[in-house]
Amino acid sequence: MSALRLPWSLLAAALILVLTMGGGAWIDLRIDRMHARQVEISAGLEKTVRLNQALHAMLMIAVLEQNTLRSTSYDTVHAELELTLRTIGQLMGELGLTQEVAALGTQRSELHRVEQQVLGTMRNEQWPQARQLLSDDAYVLARKIHEIDSETAIGAIHGELEATARHFGRIRIASLAVRAAAVLLLLWAGVSFSRQMSRELAEQARLREEIAAANRQLEDKVRARTQELERANDRLEQLSTTDSLTGLANRRRFAAVWADEWHRASRMGMPLAVAMVDIDGFKPYNDHYGHPAGDECLRRVAAVLRTVAQRAGEMAARYGGEEFVLVLPGLGPEEATALAERLAQGVRALDVPHAPTSGFARVTVSVGVASLVPRLGDSAEGLLRAADLALYKAKQQGRDRVICADMPTPAAARA
Ligand code: GH3
Ligand code: MG
Ligand code: MG
Repeated sequence: MSALRLPWSLLAAALILVLTMGGGAWIDLRIDRMHARQVEISAGLEKTVRLNQALHAMLMIAVLEQNTLRSTSYDTVHAELELTLRTIGQLMGELGLTQEVAALGTQRSELHRVEQQVLGTMRNEQWPQARQLLSDDAYVLARKIHEIDSETAIGAIHGELEATARHFGRIRIASLAVRAAAVLLLLWAGVSFSRQMSRELAEQARLREEIAAANRQLEDKVRARTQELERANDRLEQLSTTDSLTGLANRRRFAAVWADEWHRASRMGMPLAVAMVDIDGFKPYNDHYGHPAGDECLRRVAAVLRTVAQRAGEMAARYGGEEFVLVLPGLGPEEATALAERLAQGVRALDVPHAPTSGFARVTVSVGVASLVPRLGDSAEGLLRAADLALYKAKQQGRDRVICADMPTPAAARA
């Protein structure tokens, strides 16, 4: 999955926009500064015209009134005029109008030279010469030319101002056009970027969905495999605890259940009974009918065992060979004996013919029963042994019977 990158067009548009906005601001600043300078020059030039006229009028009045005092402020006004011309000169120099300013300066020097002569003659009280100098054609003409040149310079400045404004106006329009283009580019880039983003997001969602589906499949497989394994384990567990011939619990399973029941009975102070069952004269039966028939007989006896031990907690197991065992939790000696009697009767009722050589008409079982409420000092093995002993007795007393072991009662044990 590729990382989402900003498109070059978006970056370029943003850059152009920033540049053109910066450029626009710079142009506006330039125009403002230029305009201010040109206004300053214009005002300066107008001021020089005014000061020139003031100087001339000052001299004329002094001559006409024949009063030198009238021209005492000449030097001050002249100095102001010179200063104004210098200032304009600097400003116009920046605009490339040095020549025009130089011409004005030269004209002003020429006028100043004549005016100095007039002032000289006035101080000597030579009034006719002073008047002569002021009305001299050359001086009058020079004054007129200076005035016209000043006006022309003002016009030139205005023209310059307009040309500059037009120039910058064009630049401003071009900059606006570029800015508009940049905005359009930005919009276009933004739209295509968001499209690209939604495509990427859709792709990511699709991939996530694919991964989730693959995960679900995997989980289903794992679940199915786990169930298979659990079933196989259950089957194995069953196989390892079941006797394959009779389908009853095997010796191993019996040992585990027996230990559990013993502990439970001990804990709860409940009776626990056990019945050891052995088929009578099974060897001759086997010898007469053969081993497969012996197996079948074992299966049938096992089925009877299963039918008598059906309450919760009761269990019938194959102890080994043709011996079986019944675990009977909660049953006292009488109840256990009664159950064992039902079993012996059930086997008799099968009416399986015995081998003629055995001395028995049909297949029967002998049962040894033992029951007690476990107390301190008692053991599970002791109870089993007692049942086994009772079975031995049953065999000795002629078989096909149930014998219940005489377990010492707690009181008897103490006595
Ligand atoms: P008793 O009345 O004293 O019990 O005599 P019995 O002949 O039953 O005694 P014994 O223990 O001598 O004989 C048990 C016979 O059970 C021996 C054996 O051949 C047979 N047997 C043990 N296991 C199997 C089996 O799985 N299948 C078959 N068919 N016979 C078995
Ligand atoms: Mg036996
Ligand atoms: Mg036997």
